[in-house]
Amino acid sequence: MSLGEKRLFFLMSAGGLLLLAVLAWLAWYLISPRLETFYPGLPGIIGVAALIASIVIAVGLLLVAVSALTGRRMLLGQRITSTVIRILFPPVLMLSSILGIDRDRVKRSFIAVNNALVEAARTEVRAHRILLLLPHCLQATDCPHKITGGLIENCRGCGRCVIAGLLQLANENDLALAVATGGTLARRVIKEKKPEAIVAVACEMDLTSGIRDSYPLPVYGVLNERPNGPCRDTTVDLAAVRAAIAMLGEGGEVVDDGRP
Ligand code: SF4
Repeated sequence: MSLGEKRLFFLMSAGGLLLLAVLAWLAWYLISPRLETFYPGLPGIIGVAALIASIVIAVGLLLVAVSALTGRRMLLGQRITSTVIRILFPPVLMLSSILGIDRDRVKRSFIAVNNALVEAARTEVRAHRILLLLPHCLQATDCPHKITGGLIENCRGCGRCVIAGLLQLANENDLALAVATGGTLARRVIKEKKPEAIVAVACEMDLTSGIRDSYPLPVYGVLNERPNGPCRDTTVDLAAVRAAIAMLGEGGEVVDDGRP
């Protein structure tokens, strides 16, 4: 992950924060006369509260940026980090539309930032509590074996698609593995398996929403490759998935100490 890739999300976040502040100021300016009719000091109180909130978000963004760019664990917990990103994400997307910046580029940058934060947090995860969450489009479209709905063991391992390799990877490391056909199913799998961390493979859109939906659970995103266009016979770099699993495992190596 290059520095430039992560930098885009932070530049957009700073711009998004500015946009948010301008919109808040505009709203405050327009409703101030009305607020004054309730209590003369009310516009001032709301103005100061909005200013303090903006400063807190700006400091939070700065700490998130330092953590993601240096790989150092900052004072922020996963919950505060996720709150800062949750607040800033909608204005970031709004700004990218205004400026005509490709949304997938911004989302790739966000995924890179998220992964850097997961790495910086150095969460120690027991191997069998890592969930490897895959999209259905990794399976060869003409494969007759149903692998969704907890039936991934139906894969015959013929090697025509990357599912065989991912299944082997999961079995070798004793990981929970699931193939989801959409966000609703993915959320249900997460609820059932209660993982401590997730390695998720998907496209920019699904990874972005999945990461944000799962906060504060650490989700390391690996982008799929789409040589045949979106949602059809996609694939993924097995080495990248393996590296993500190893990074999340205790001491940088996937281990299982037998704890429940
Ligand atoms: S590797 Fe498994 S899922 Fe892929 S085509 Fe072969 S049997 Fe089907």
